[in-house]
Amino acid sequence: MTRRRTQVAIIGGGPAGLLLGQLLHRAGIDALLLERRSAEYVLGRIRAGVLEQGTVDVLERAGVAARLREEGLVHDGVEIGFQGRRHRIALKSLVGKSVTVYGQTDMTRDLMEARAASGADSLYEAEDVQLHDIGGTQPRVSFRHRGASHEIDCDFIAGCDGFHGVCRPSIPANQLSVFERVYPFGWLGLLADVPPPWSELVYANSERGFALASMRSPTRVRCYVQCGLDERVEDWSDVRFWDEFRRRIGEEIADQVTLAPSIEKSIAPLRSFVVEPLRFGRLFLAGDAAHIVPPTGAKGLNLAVSDVCYLHEALRDYYRERSERPLDEYSARCLRRVWKAERFSWWMTRQLHLFPGDAFDRRMQQTELEYLFESKAAQASMAENYVGLPLEAR
Ligand SMILES: Cc1cc2nc3c(=O)[nH]c(=O)nc-3n(C[C@H](O)[C@H](O)[C@H](O)COP(=O)(O)OP(=O)(O)OC[C@H]3O[C@@H](n4cnc5c(N)ncnc54)[C@H](O)[C@@H]3O)c2cc1C
Repeated sequence: MTRRRTQVAIIGGGPAGLLLGQLLHRAGIDALLLERRSAEYVLGRIRAGVLEQGTVDVLERAGVAARLREEGLVHDGVEIGFQGRRHRIALKSLVGKSVTVYGQTDMTRDLMEARAASGADSLYEAEDVQLHDIGGTQPRVSFRHRGASHEIDCDFIAGCDGFHGVCRPSIPANQLSVFERVYPFGWLGLLADVPPPWSELVYANSERGFALASMRSPTRVRCYVQCGLDERVEDWSDVRFWDEFRRRIGEEIADQVTLAPSIEKSIAPLRSFVVEPLRFGRLFLAGDAAHIVPPTGAKGLNLAVSDVCYLHEALRDYYRERSERPLDEYSARCLRRVWKAERFSWWMTRQLHLFPGDAFDRRMQQTELEYLFESKAAQASMAENYVGLPLEAR
């Protein structure tokens, strides 16, 4: 068995783990990153695509925004389709901020390239990662890599290993409070190489269920339809997907949709989930390891970014000032932002999907949307949350 030491062991090489590694590197803090999958696999996952201004700012500070500045698509509004009409929420003119469409895959690639260029250590295909002594001051991480056993001594462990990772379950269950809502439907997503005929994201609430017209670049669309939890991707041919999408998204867009072949299709369940606190001893949870939002509000990736921004500040201040206080404040600081994003994502999901409720619920949804379309104050509230609430300054 080989043994080595690092200041921070980062578990998980998704956006949270990679960005934390980059921010720590720039602060002069040594971190070793362990990822269960191969780099190619991580890059192949099609996920989020809408970045808040605060996220763009953090990526700028991390020195990984050059390509994002060139290729990111700045959107000043989003649209909501309902009862045959589209209503625009003018983000920029309502609250002075925009969002940037830039795929999670592209952001991950930028971070991987920056990490490789910095010479910082990442081990992909790390198997059987286990955490030890996280309640004490000298935690360890053991794992296997290319058939050999390894152990890392470290000061801290950053649990950036997503919802199904090993870090959160390493915390004694009686030390965590869990808050969860599972929704009775999922999203079927399709990626296709065709220029989007829409210039901004279009969220549609139709009698047949939710649909979202989105994009990843000027030549690539990402579209979704609400589907049942028991549905299988194999049962959705491209033709069936586009047919359903067109019926839901509204006539005007439906007429312009090209029935392009998919390059990826997948179903994701929708869930709201938070654990409290985000710390146990020397282990800190960040991103999807600590919380999940339904994707309707486009908040999952953005929350992962704000968590690791706060975590890197706390670790930086710990090493500079030898003060535990920033670390003690980490969880509460994150959770203030997390719960507001949970609320907004829950609200967006509630207003835009077809729920198995009664006629009263449907009328409430209709009334809420009509109020939104009529009231500048309601639009400003939605816009303020959609572009992202500000990160707390230290
Ligand atoms: C199918 C899907 C679609 C989504 N769509 C959207 C969207 O449209 N908009 C949006 O805002 N958000 C979306 N999200 C959410 C968004 O992608 C996540 O919030 C974001 O990826 C969180 O980043 P993360 O680094 O915390 O977690 P992840 O991206 O999940 O990264 C965690 C990493 O840890 C690794 N790992 C897991 N276990 C171990 C282990 N034991 N040892 C070592 N490594 C491990 C994983 O392989 C993974 O690479 C989507 C998520 C999913 C699953």
